[in-house]
Amino acid sequence: MVPALSAEEIIALTKKHTFFSWSAQNRVNPIPMARAEGVYFWDANGKRYLDFNSQLMCVNVGHSHPRIIEAIKKQADTLVYAGPNMATEVRAELGRRLAQITPGNLNVFFFTLGGAEANENALKLARFYTGRHKVITRYRSYHGASHGAMMLTGDPRRWASEPGMGGVVRVLDPYRYRCSFCRSQTACTLDCLNHVEEVMMYEGPPTVAAVLIETVTGTNGLIVPPDGYLQGLRALCDRYGILLICDEVMCGLGRTGAWFAVDHWQVIPDMITMAKGLTSAYLPLGAVAMREEIAAYFGERVYQGGLTYNAHPMCLAAAIATLEVLEEEELIGNARRMGAVMAGRLADLKAKHLCVGDVRSIGLFGVIELVGNRQTREPLAPFNGSSPEMVRLDAFLKENGLFTFLHWNCVSTNPPLCITEAELEEGFAILDRGLDLVDEMITDKT
Ligand code: PLP
Repeated sequence: MVPALSAEEIIALTKKHTFFSWSAQNRVNPIPMARAEGVYFWDANGKRYLDFNSQLMCVNVGHSHPRIIEAIKKQADTLVYAGPNMATEVRAELGRRLAQITPGNLNVFFFTLGGAEANENALKLARFYTGRHKVITRYRSYHGASHGAMMLTGDPRRWASEPGMGGVVRVLDPYRYRCSFCRSQTACTLDCLNHVEEVMMYEGPPTVAAVLIETVTGTNGLIVPPDGYLQGLRALCDRYGILLICDEVMCGLGRTGAWFAVDHWQVIPDMITMAKGLTSAYLPLGAVAMREEIAAYFGERVYQGGLTYNAHPMCLAAAIATLEVLEEEELIGNARRMGAVMAGRLADLKAKHLCVGDVRSIGLFGVIELVGNRQTREPLAPFNGSSPEMVRLDAFLKENGLFTFLHWNCVSTNPPLCITEAELEEGFAILDRGLDLVDEMITDKT
């Protein structure tokens, strides 16, 4: 029998023997998470947290859903593992169901264990299929931490791994609040698309295999593309024979109030990558959805890529159950309805608090962007940095039982899609009090 560990022992042993991602090891301060249910989780001391970030924007259906747990148990009793060259019932079933929810003829799926591997494989597929090697990505993006995905990433997490895989060219984002092209205009001009076309011209379209974007940017500030942007990007790609790959690892599977974020603009990319919400993170799984023509290209040509855990039956069973829960409990509709409530609460915070520069959301995918000065829009923490105000806010939210994700000068609001209005109110009341504190800190300075 393993003796039960105290909260302090859990933290001490975890820190002593295990290595944390994206962290200076001596500075991590983990919550000793013990159990979770719905939109809440509890630490080993019994303290309850409202999960306003679905852990890492991934527990889309909420914690400990009995249906998914049951499906995992049942699969364990039936067939735990099958090699990647096997056909299994769960593989057949998940492929069929995914084809029903993906747009256009993106009807063929390559399974991976997460988002980075999905993006790595999407890029390989694009390179082999087009015979071209370059890829255009955006600066405010994250596509994963493996070596290739790190280079696809635009944000500063990439810097430490450079120089890496070649052939990645980056462009600016459709970031209306701080747009280099049309911030000073009353309406968005979509001039950023001309910039993308200019870069394509300089790079030589016959050398560019793909444009890879997060349909709605996640960690880099919740950037919702202006209407017309995705359609324009699709048209540009078509003009030059370049594939459009949409990374929906974070924004897919209901998060934005649609199965996939591209559905909001009726744009059909050539590939969609997904992970996180695909199993609600109950087990690790990613996928590349590809157009039938791309899959057909490999009909007689070997696809040079593979994974030991490709199409792992346990993970596929969790995904099937997740899709069933999303559908039968109408959670995507709830994301739309509660998303409208959340947009209202975000707007209230903006109207009330000096420190709120901008709020953005789509479905239950939201962000509060904090500034030191609303006129100049000076960020409350510098690009790629933090500030005493953000550190104080982070501590306040945790102390008061609200778990969420703070990144530079942004605060995420990405609760599980099963959240109720009362639970949303509970979270926003804590955020409101936290922002009061920040208002006081910035007023003191002026
Ligand atoms: N793409 C996006 C948009 C992401 O947000 C993430 C992870 O946060 C990834 C890719 C990488 O996924 P994973 O951590 O499963 O490799």
